Amino acid sequence: MKAALAPTSDIHVDPLFASLRQWLGDNSPTSVAVVTDPMTEKWCLSALNPHLPPGTQFLRLGQHGEKIKSLEHAHALWDSFEGMGMDRHGLVIALGGGTISDLTAFASSTYLRGVRFWLIPTTLLSMVDASIGGKTGINFRGLKNRIGTFAKPEGVSIHTDFLDTLDAREMANGWAEHIKHTLLASEDAKELPWEKTLESANAEAFEAAILRSISIKSNIVDQDALETKGTRKTLNFGHTSGHALESWAMAQSLEVKHGEAVAWGMRLALKMSEFSSDCPQVKPGDFDGISRSLATLIPLPCAVPDAEVLWEFMRSDKKNLGEQVNVVLLNGLGCPRVDVNVTLADFEQALAGLPED
Ligand SMILES: [Zn+2]
Repeated sequence: MKAALAPTSDIHVDPLFASLRQWLGDNSPTSVAVVTDPMTEKWCLSALNPHLPPGTQFLRLGQHGEKIKSLEHAHALWDSFEGMGMDRHGLVIALGGGTISDLTAFASSTYLRGVRFWLIPTTLLSMVDASIGGKTGINFRGLKNRIGTFAKPEGVSIHTDFLDTLDAREMANGWAEHIKHTLLASEDAKELPWEKTLESANAEAFEAAILRSISIKSNIVDQDALETKGTRKTLNFGHTSGHALESWAMAQSLEVKHGEAVAWGMRLALKMSEFSSDCPQVKPGDFDGISRSLATLIPLPCAVPDAEVLWEFMRSDKKNLGEQVNVVLLNGLGCPRVDVNVTLADFEQALAGLPED
């Protein structure tokens, strides 16, 4: 894949890890640790290895996936940091998808009140979303990202060749967040990314999509880095019900990917937008075409439980206060509305009204 893409703040499209090497040369960290899981160790580490300084330590997580975002795995990283004598002049590099970067960034940002870290996302999902925004987190009591910090990486290296290691389901997983960013920012339906299918998209199209997502998300995050003003809440579009579905699936030991849950959550939010008084510009059926495209491109791998079951998970989402459930809706493409209060009846109506695929 071609390089020639301009960096956005400290996020670099970095095929030969030149930005990372530059940083290592400029900062001479006392120690460097690379966190991998069995998948990224097998498929991605060889591309990074030649660019690492002598003496780099490799911290290998024995598992991969959502289950590594646990206190036990954070504890294991802290143990490793102790064992290798990591101090605040060291650097921890996360090589992996969103789960590795969330865990590694959490463990780094809390150890010694903050050790510097660098993210190298290896999935489309983490390239377009998880590695941008300065949030870290682990799951707790079955709830996603219940414990975490706001902490910015020293840099993010996007190496698009890693996309060649992903299967179609994993690419669709990342595409969901890209569609979300586009729905939040583009008023022109022609800019919507399903005009070209995932199969037909080429390397340049993916690079362009990644850059577009980074630019949209960075722009939103820069306006509201600590989530105090509300702007950042727009990124939660599709996530309240999506997270509920993920939490439910986790409890059932069903594997539902984040992007799959969010794509379904966006379909519900689009349907609720059609009948919400907070979205007067939207008429019933307006979003059915988008909803069908989402279902085709990013299908759910399981049946959905009853609305009441998911509602309990939605009420315990950390972004909801007490009995209220606040969601993000769209008053038209590119026009998000935050803090829209919905009821169980709204949720049931939307669930029943989803267009057939
Ligand atoms: Zn997400």
